[in-house]
Amino acid sequence: MSKIEMKTPLVEMDGDEMTRILWKMIKEELLEPYIELKTEYYDLGLEHRNETDDQVTIDSAEATKKYGVAVKCATITPNAARVEEYSLKEMWKSPNGTIRAILDGTVFRAPIQVKGIEPCVKNWEKPITLARHAYGDVYKNTEIRVPGPGKAELVFKNSDGTEIRELIQEFDGPGIIQGIHNKDNSIISFARSCFNYALDTKQDIWFATKDTISKVYDHRFKDIFQEIYENEYKEKFESNGLEYFYTLIDDAVARVMKTKGGFIWACKNYDGDVMSDMVSSACGSLAMMTSVLVSPTGVYEYEAAHGTVQRHYYKHLQGEETSTNSVATIFAWTGALRKRGELDGISELCSFADKLEKATLSTIESGKMTKDLALITSMKDVTVLNSQNFIKAIRESLDAML
Ligand code: NAP
Ligand code: MG
Repeated sequence: MSKIEMKTPLVEMDGDEMTRILWKMIKEELLEPYIELKTEYYDLGLEHRNETDDQVTIDSAEATKKYGVAVKCATITPNAARVEEYSLKEMWKSPNGTIRAILDGTVFRAPIQVKGIEPCVKNWEKPITLARHAYGDVYKNTEIRVPGPGKAELVFKNSDGTEIRELIQEFDGPGIIQGIHNKDNSIISFARSCFNYALDTKQDIWFATKDTISKVYDHRFKDIFQEIYENEYKEKFESNGLEYFYTLIDDAVARVMKTKGGFIWACKNYDGDVMSDMVSSACGSLAMMTSVLVSPTGVYEYEAAHGTVQRHYYKHLQGEETSTNSVATIFAWTGALRKRGELDGISELCSFADKLEKATLSTIESGKMTKDLALITSMKDVTVLNSQNFIKAIRESLDAML
């Protein structure tokens, strides 16, 4: 069988620790034997980020803008302990944060569902994709602890010198105050990313806030989504038989529990933080969550939702066997390859991505899996494989399909 040819390179962002080990295995066992893999390689491993003063992260994001599709391995976000461990020149910023800022994107996360690992919400037959607005609100707040009686006001000074002033509270004793903000431009980008991704994946989209209580702040989110929808997306949604649906956040939560899944749930920053943890935990494992960053102009960066699995890596370094789940990282590659295939009109690449995903799921369904899944599966008598043998088992299923 001849290998599948590619036209445009994928932007490949290598990473750290255990996921860097899996990355290499996935390429060698599951990709390179079948595809004439064309990538533009960026080493986002912490050592190389440090050597380049983190320029490599910026370069990789710029390359993603240029080519349109990237695939990223998990990377270490340095903290004080990492600065010491890797003798870093600085506590470099989170690569995901840097890339997200350059692409102005929204992150979409969805569980990978497989027979034998059923979500605890029984009626969720299809995955629920969570879209979290990643700017502002309580994550960029200013807070004051009020010491005692006094008056709190909200003041905006216009650049022309005029002022807008609102009373927050006449305090009769100690208390607390919080100032939060968001920007129209950020909300507009969020809305566009959501509508684009809904069209791309042919799913309905839900958006919910608490606009009945927050009559200016949350209401602005609702209005911007509605405006962008009416002006730019309504026709496309209708011709694709898709729906955009706004409701109150408490109504959305109640309804989500009763649905069959298979839609995108767009959330404000805090709601997205909380609800994505709820959805992923209900679906079993972070190692079974995909994540894709989508820019408002339609640039895609695929990755796994989990981190570098540090604990497993240290075991690996000591020569111990690991059973690290590579499914989300495999799906990051298949997502990126399928998108590249769509953009370049290479149908073999798209169908290879479909088959590799099927082979991965059927391997698990046949009872071969990593330890994290063996602990939560409803299947009896499963075989627990180590990191390497799990990938080899997927290759056997893939070869049988091809
Ligand atoms: P983590 O890598 O997600 O792992 C936390 C725990 O979850 C693991 O110890 C393991 O549990 C389980 N787990 C996660 N992925 C797994 C997989 N593929 N297979 C099996 N088990 C898996 O989070 P962390 O250990 O808190 O963070 C490690 C590093 O990752 C940090 O430096 C952090 O900055 C970075 N990080 C990067 C990203 C990203 O690049 N997107 C995201 C999050 C964190 P057991 O130990 O119980 O087996
Ligand atoms: Mg969280």
